[in-house]
Amino acid sequence: MTVKFTIAVFEGDGIGPEITAPTVALLDALADSAGTYSFDFQPLPAGAAHYAKTGESLPASSLQAARKADAILLSAMGLPDVRYPDGTEISPQIELRKAFDLFAGVRPVRVPPGGETPLKLPEGTGIDFVLVRESTEGLFHTQGQGEVTEDEARETLLITKATCEKLFAFTFKLANERKAQGRGTGRVTCVDKANVFRAFAFFRKHFDAEAAKHPGLTADHAYVDATALWMVQKPWEFDVLVTENMFGDILSDLGAGLMGGLGLAPSADIGLHQAVFQPCHGSAPDIAGQARANPFAMILSAAMMLDWLGLKHGVEAMSRDATRLRQAVDIQVATRTDVTADLGGSASTAQAAQAIGKLLGC
Ligand code: ATP
Repeated sequence: MTVKFTIAVFEGDGIGPEITAPTVALLDALADSAGTYSFDFQPLPAGAAHYAKTGESLPASSLQAARKADAILLSAMGLPDVRYPDGTEISPQIELRKAFDLFAGVRPVRVPPGGETPLKLPEGTGIDFVLVRESTEGLFHTQGQGEVTEDEARETLLITKATCEKLFAFTFKLANERKAQGRGTGRVTCVDKANVFRAFAFFRKHFDAEAAKHPGLTADHAYVDATALWMVQKPWEFDVLVTENMFGDILSDLGAGLMGGLGLAPSADIGLHQAVFQPCHGSAPDIAGQARANPFAMILSAAMMLDWLGLKHGVEAMSRDATRLRQAVDIQVATRTDVTADLGGSASTAQAAQAIGKLLGC
């Protein structure tokens, strides 16, 4: 039996369409060869170029179609010279996060042994941890509404029990899945500042309550400042980290820095019912239209989508294909063949993606 999934696709701005097309083609080819799942890709308009043309950045019809889809694949949106009248950037991805309550920002940090990283790793050691960033509250609670007077500026951090419960349940489930797949050690670390702020003691209390339900996993705590240090000194010891929105914002960029650059950093924003998969990088208007964009972060985001859908719907071939995609990217990056200019190669976007297809035999 073939399970069919409807995927909402926002190809977005700048290099967005260039990295979306080969990624969708790879997903179709994988599905064809697996034979147990298939996709109906629905391209949806949104983004800065669409806003410039129509005055709408995320049409209601696109939002509605995305709501109904099984998952959302998004490349990058926003262009530096297209702005709302108040000067802020066009970022429908943030609207999607709010509309679908995508509370868990999942940022994998992965460097295979011998892979590219600015750190000096012990021989034979790689990095493979996941940072879960709470994405709907924390210090972003008053985003765009902070109070500013002549003499002072004020923003409010919000941490709720309801979001903590969802976030920690998600995080421990993720750690269990990684352990079951042989990808993680089953360690979950709560990253906070509970020694200074009562709000973080509250965050930690709810983490501990969830941890008590998972005796098969190891739960511990780390202060955010020490975590920044350890992410540089011994990142291979981490498995799953969970933290507040602003801390996660900062640490996920540090995580991207540990990998071989933005062109290799995937991400997912996940809620109880919907999820958006997109590369960490932006629309890179400086290289748009030149066929130089690295498609790997987008392909790795698509692999996360395969993982999420496969686990949710019990389609094992999807999880297997997610692993195959990651391995193919690792091989190409390690051998530096058919990689784009940002990784020191001379391949075009299409050539780099086609080489992945060749490695996968599809
Ligand atoms: P945003 O604010 O939307 O995150 P940004 O302007 O901070 O965007 P990017 O659009 O991600 O950043 O671009 C930062 C730099 O990284 C640019 O020089 C861009 O060309 C490069 N870059 C980003 N993504 C890629 C990619 N997929 N392949 C090659 N280079 C990339």
